[in-house]
Amino acid sequence: MQEAKIEDLTSEDYVRLFLETDLQDLLSLADRIRRETCGRTVTFVNNIVVNYSNICVARCPICAFSRRPEDPEAYTLPPENVAETVEKAYYRYGVCEVHLNGGLNPELDIEYFERMFKLIKTRTPNVRIKGLTCCEIGYYSRLWRMSTREVIERLRDAGLDVLSGGCLEIYNSEVRKIITPNKISAEEWFKIAEIAAKCGVLTNATILFGHVERPVHVIEHLLKIREFQEKTRAILVFIPLKYNPMNTELYRRGIVSGECSSEYVLRVIAISRIVLYDTVLRIAAYWVSIGKRLAQIALTGGANDLVGTMINERVFRETGRTEITTVEELSKMVREAGYQPALRDTYGNIMRIL
Ligand code: SF4
Repeated sequence: MQEAKIEDLTSEDYVRLFLETDLQDLLSLADRIRRETCGRTVTFVNNIVVNYSNICVARCPICAFSRRPEDPEAYTLPPENVAETVEKAYYRYGVCEVHLNGGLNPELDIEYFERMFKLIKTRTPNVRIKGLTCCEIGYYSRLWRMSTREVIERLRDAGLDVLSGGCLEIYNSEVRKIITPNKISAEEWFKIAEIAAKCGVLTNATILFGHVERPVHVIEHLLKIREFQEKTRAILVFIPLKYNPMNTELYRRGIVSGECSSEYVLRVIAISRIVLYDTVLRIAAYWVSIGKRLAQIALTGGANDLVGTMINERVFRETGRTEITTVEELSKMVREAGYQPALRDTYGNIMRIL
């Protein structure tokens, strides 16, 4: 198959390629495109995750992390506490990014975030702040009665560097009604991401797969990402997230009975590279979501980024995943897969070849 034709395939062609191609052939095709468009380097960032609050009113049936405000396990960390955690990780592990995770928390005002970001930047000016998703920006704009642009500009001025890219889940509105009925539409997600990019705040983007979606929905999502990226160049890393059903409402209600297969995971990552081609240069094998072994295999099938060391990650831990890692271990994984590991910053700039 000619490369030019790969970019010109129809949605139906991509679905066939995704489903019907022999797995090894699909991985090889994705690997060839990845080598031609991005070379042999596999990147990741040395970062810490801080879950500043687990309170969220969206109550998505896919989520094991969030709690209601009245729940005894509900918490919100004071900004000082968050900044202190980041500072400790900076001196102890040399992190250069904090990934801030939370939900749609009606008790928070914009001053809470501004204070948190300013404290982080004061105590650790070299640490990039990646946090909030377009869903949170949309929710807080309404809650605080401010325009999207005003919210983004104020948070940016306080120190927010990049949006985390979560909450996009899957583009199809019918599937969204099942898995995440109370969140903004995917269309709104893209609109907010575009406004943020115009304000100088870029984003990552995700797809959540392995729940009730069909292959056609995966392709629809990828084509939308490609179209958006061609227009905006706002996406830094595309991160396929495998749905882990344990402790979620979808599982309890029997709508999803278990995890998708490893083959499906590899196919999703490979087809992501093929459809996105050279538009989003970093496609992730997110080891926290799919496990280290599978992530290593995915590096040979289109992926060229491991996201990060993700010290402290909790969202996936609530679904039973318990792996942790170090810079050295991720480097070894990459080398064993036959690629060159490198530390990057939040924007994808190579900081150190490992
Ligand atoms: S997935 Fe995000 S928006 Fe949905 S309930 Fe969990 S934290 Fe809230």
